[in-house]
Amino acid sequence: MNASLKLFTVRGIDVRIHITFPLILLWAAFQFGLSAGGNVAGAVFGVTAVSLLFVLIILHELGHSFAAQYYGVPVKQIVLSPLGGVAQLAHMPEKPIQEFVIAIAGPAVNVLAAAVMWATAVILSINISNPLHILMGAGGVSLSALFAYVFVYNIFLAGFNLIPAFPMDGGRVLRALLAMRLEFSRATAIASAVGRAFAVIMGLYALFNGAIFLILIAVFIFSAATQENRAVKVRSALRGYAVQQAYAPAAYRLSPYHNLQHAVDFMLMSGQSSFPVCQGELYLGFVTRPRLEQALQTRGRHTWVSHIMRRDISPVSPWDDLYDVQKRMEVEGVDALPVVGDGRCLGIITRRHIFDLHRLAQSAPRTLPKAQSA
Ligand SMILES: [Zn+2]
Repeated sequence: MNASLKLFTVRGIDVRIHITFPLILLWAAFQFGLSAGGNVAGAVFGVTAVSLLFVLIILHELGHSFAAQYYGVPVKQIVLSPLGGVAQLAHMPEKPIQEFVIAIAGPAVNVLAAAVMWATAVILSINISNPLHILMGAGGVSLSALFAYVFVYNIFLAGFNLIPAFPMDGGRVLRALLAMRLEFSRATAIASAVGRAFAVIMGLYALFNGAIFLILIAVFIFSAATQENRAVKVRSALRGYAVQQAYAPAAYRLSPYHNLQHAVDFMLMSGQSSFPVCQGELYLGFVTRPRLEQALQTRGRHTWVSHIMRRDISPVSPWDDLYDVQKRMEVEGVDALPVVGDGRCLGIITRRHIFDLHRLAQSAPRTLPKAQSA
């Protein structure tokens, strides 16, 4: 978070800009300055054009964000970097229609913006009938060149993002469309295969044309498509397994009178990095590693853990389905959750425990009968 600056807040969403952003403005000023004959007007044109492009990206991300908020999905923030923008949603809903609307909302904003620009150009008789021609420099440094530039970039943003491959919007649109007919994991597998095929074709094309940057994008798309499929596969294989089959009952616990130094000692001794805080058998709260580290810096090691423990993390029960638990960890962005049964402190469950159970269930399923019928 320290590496970005807040621009403004809209509907509770912080729009932030990565500190490397000024670099791309410098680059634009230099690039356009040169191509326009090395003058200041060219540099101003470049900076204006690139700034407008980032306005378009913000609008695109706001499209995703407002659609997500409409379905009750919290949006943490939007971060702009020289590579583009990301709207950080708390999670992606698995209801196909909701994922579809959220994914298509971004590109839809750009299509809409392009249509409005086209209409404006017609009304003000600005010539953008041949935008590519103008982009090549025939328009020089002019208002119509700027207009054409932004117009084409809108089309490009919509088109590029609708490439049917994860992590692009198009990959999600495709998955959502498939999931309306098929099982979610099956839909993901197909969408992922399409994405990888696309990446291979793109990679080969780039290879024969010596386009290094395009090769990098192809590799990125290929691995993102593979990862998405793996994550969904792992999660759906967890269905039917219960927390009690995977959690650590012998985990270290803290009492409310332990201080942060004790927590650090326990952490070094056990390798465990989150701790339930219990008074006798009674569950009180949860100390996560990020919270502990933050408290060590701001409050010192003699602070009682009861003063810094998180009470907003609700514990899981030993009978909860691992599918739901894994999803909760992703949504809440935690690596571990406390396990409490009948009000009694039982232990913790971590991502590592879930990963281990999943591996065992794949390699030796007979050793791990499912707890519930899936
Ligand atoms: Zn998008």
